[in-house]
Amino acid sequence: MNNPSSSAALRVTESDICIVGDGAIAKTTALALAQAGFGVTLLSPASPPSAAVAAAADPGWDARVYALNHTAHHLLSSLKVWDALDAARVAPVDAMIVNGDGARPGGLAFDAYGAHTGALAWILEDRNLGQALDAALKFAHNVKRVHGRATALLRDDDGATVTLDDGAGIKAQLVVGADGAQSWVRGQCDIGLDYRSYGQRAVVSNFDCAKPHHGAAHQWFTGAEGIIALLPLPGNKVSLVWSAPDALADTLRAESAAQIAARLAVYADEKLGALTPLQPELVRDFPLRLIRPHAMSAPRVALVGDAAHVVHPLAGHGMNLGFADVAQLIKTLSEREPQRGIGDSRVLARYERARKEDVLLMLLTTDGLARLFGADIEPLRVVRNFGLNLLDKLPVLKRRLISHAMGK
Ligand SMILES: Cc1cc2nc3c(=O)[nH]c(=O)nc-3n(C[C@H](O)[C@H](O)[C@H](O)COP(=O)(O)OP(=O)(O)OC[C@H]3O[C@@H](n4cnc5c(N)ncnc54)[C@H](O)[C@@H]3O)c2cc1C
Repeated sequence: MNNPSSSAALRVTESDICIVGDGAIAKTTALALAQAGFGVTLLSPASPPSAAVAAAADPGWDARVYALNHTAHHLLSSLKVWDALDAARVAPVDAMIVNGDGARPGGLAFDAYGAHTGALAWILEDRNLGQALDAALKFAHNVKRVHGRATALLRDDDGATVTLDDGAGIKAQLVVGADGAQSWVRGQCDIGLDYRSYGQRAVVSNFDCAKPHHGAAHQWFTGAEGIIALLPLPGNKVSLVWSAPDALADTLRAESAAQIAARLAVYADEKLGALTPLQPELVRDFPLRLIRPHAMSAPRVALVGDAAHVVHPLAGHGMNLGFADVAQLIKTLSEREPQRGIGDSRVLARYERARKEDVLLMLLTTDGLARLFGADIEPLRVVRNFGLNLLDKLPVLKRRLISHAMGK
């Protein structure tokens, strides 16, 4: 349980676990650990705008959306977060259609019916997810929310202490770094990493489409223009994630959403009809990079989410990997031997081992696909189009791919 220490250091909060971060993964980790019976302090940056305030300020559609898989759905449902989502703003994905490039583009398609499931994935807005998590956190008695900037992390045999810039401290048996790609916690542990920029940025915006999308997510591997995904939103709306080479991303950012819609017509017109910007001023972009830390744990520290791995979004899996981290961390901590504490290095090593294969597979797959489909070279174009067509015709392999993508 959480206890403000009554000794001389009145401003030291003690809890079993201190989570650093303020994104969906940090909040989900806090809820899941609290549900498992741990006392949690969730340390977030000073006074961030809450999801509710952000929604009131902008009731439009959030350009930041995620395709969440069954692992995420299961975890969020078990935490009663899924039911707290605004369901009218969540779109199930019934089919995925992948298109190759060039004169003879290959293609790959799969659907929920063929995969014997109700939905392949669900598309939801970051804000919708944030609001549902914030609402659930209000009822989580074992979670104390603290806002401040961490300045130091000290670890010893007794535990770990996070010091804040106002002098306050948080003492815990375990610190969870859920603080994103530039993780401060990871930096404090001197965990090395492999870093590579993809030389691309993801340009995102939302559009109305003239034809019904029928719940299909479309993706085009275009070669020179990068990778374009149009994900279904409720109604006749779609959300764009355009992983564009930096120079093209600069051009796109200098254009209006209507000009971007006109560019997309080459790809989308046939299936989705004309696209009309939902919020003409709402175009955002995100740098794309691969980050592979050399460890997911350190003495008294576990990393989850983007703090532990950053992958190319072409497969829509970064957040899903994070949810799988959370599920595994809870499982590992709950199954530890009674004599071992939650900050025990052996317990944390088990968590790391259990996640290693899944994370590495996703890093390598997304990286390989980004390189293969990013190259504008004719022989590679032929190979990748052939590969897409072949995969489409191999039911066993295709089923395994779908199953993995769904997080089953
Ligand atoms: C364009 C794009 C599309 C994507 N689409 C998908 C998708 O469809 N499906 C999917 O699964 N994934 C997707 N992803 C990946 C997904 O966005 C990330 O994997 C996910 O947001 C990571 O969540 P996180 O909570 O770990 O990190 P973040 O969302 O980065 O959150 C980290 C949080 O930590 C806070 N923080 C940072 N430093 C500190 C500190 N010192 N103290 C306290 N708090 C701190 C930050 O304020 C931030 O709120 C996409 C990514 C991009 C770029």
